[in-house]
Amino acid sequence: MTTTRFAPSPTGFIHIGNLRTALMNFLIARKAGGEFILRIDDTDPERSKEEYVDGIKQDLEWLGLHWNRVERQSERLDQYAAAADKLRDIGRFYEAFETPTELDLKRKKQLNMSKPPVYDRAALALSEAEREAMRAERGNGVWRFKLDHERIEWNDGILGDISIDAASVSDPVLIRGDGQVLYTIASVVDDTEMGVTNVVRGSDHVTNTATQIQIMKALGATPPAFAHHSLLTGPQGEALSKRLGTLALRDLREQGIQPMALLSMMARLGSSDPIELRMEMAELIDGFELSHFGAAPTKFDVADVFPMTGHYLQALPLAKVADQITALGVPDDLAEAFWTVTRDNITTLKDLDGWWTLFRDGAEPDIDDEDKEFVAQAMALLPEGPLDTTTWKSWTGAVKDATGRKGRGLFMPLRKALTGQSHGPDMSGVMPLLQVIKAR
Ligand code: GLU
Repeated sequence: MTTTRFAPSPTGFIHIGNLRTALMNFLIARKAGGEFILRIDDTDPERSKEEYVDGIKQDLEWLGLHWNRVERQSERLDQYAAAADKLRDIGRFYEAFETPTELDLKRKKQLNMSKPPVYDRAALALSEAEREAMRAERGNGVWRFKLDHERIEWNDGILGDISIDAASVSDPVLIRGDGQVLYTIASVVDDTEMGVTNVVRGSDHVTNTATQIQIMKALGATPPAFAHHSLLTGPQGEALSKRLGTLALRDLREQGIQPMALLSMMARLGSSDPIELRMEMAELIDGFELSHFGAAPTKFDVADVFPMTGHYLQALPLAKVADQITALGVPDDLAEAFWTVTRDNITTLKDLDGWWTLFRDGAEPDIDDEDKEFVAQAMALLPEGPLDTTTWKSWTGAVKDATGRKGRGLFMPLRKALTGQSHGPDMSGVMPLLQVIKAR
């Protein structure tokens, strides 16, 4: 069975970059009728916070990216310890004692000699007695996985054939001196034991993948299929990393962006498929093709999600927004008329607020001096009694005949006189609604 996972570290709220990863894994699982696991990578007890675990779940639920089950790395430490023991037993795990400063110095020397800054494996040469002495002096060392110095190859679902020389990569540290298990091994154990078949993640993980493939093989497991999506950049191609903090999903939700608008964009952005608004998740799932995504950095402009949000909302029937409309204080019997009149003039549901205030409180007429007489003449022609959706047309027709004005010179002063604004919903709907509400 196809099984994917989204594996955030709960050290912050998730942002648009994480969404790309979550969504691709979700879509692959759903398209294949498989399982999508939410895996909380919380092996770092200092930086992981329950608040973020809850926040991540809320954000995914808001988007409709429902998971089949949740797994937590902090509850699986025994499994990681067992895998570490196995690596020790087969001679692929060794303790190293260099301090960060020493490692840094080694790297600088290598770079000065134009050599790649790869860990020199000095710790492998230590005798048991020397290790004892180191431990007594510095405490426990870190545990490194001893890579086989051969090429590590895989066919990447997005990047194509990848081949990495293991000798160009440092033996990865899998356990810290204080005993904390690091993500690199935890992830390998989880992917194996949870039957993960496909892993999609950002291209910043390519080197991790190379080492993880070797670790998996050392543990006797078969690596999943890997794919690495390109990183997102800002609209000008600038790195997004610094701005990701402002692109947290909860902030986008707060700004009124609609899930389906955001998902429609992110499920296709960076692929050869067109970005089109989809109203239902099923359509996104059907049309999703991982192989259509390219390796080039993907430009993202949050401004593009607003018009899509507007289009999404405009296509909704009242029932889908009734709660929000009621919350504004719109009486139930006017909700349909209010939605019909305003929906083409909103980008987010927040905009409804302003329109409702206008209808409820009435407008301060805005009449330019040169239009005063014209507006007075027009008002005198306004029919008595209840207005309906045909009134605007017949009334402006009569005003046109009486004054000779037409086009913008005819409509704009009347709109401004009635609504106090130079733009807004279709006046045919506005007029009767204004009248009904005023009469209450
Ligand atoms: N916790 C890791 C991260 O957020 C997961 C990476 C992965 O998908 O393996 O980067």
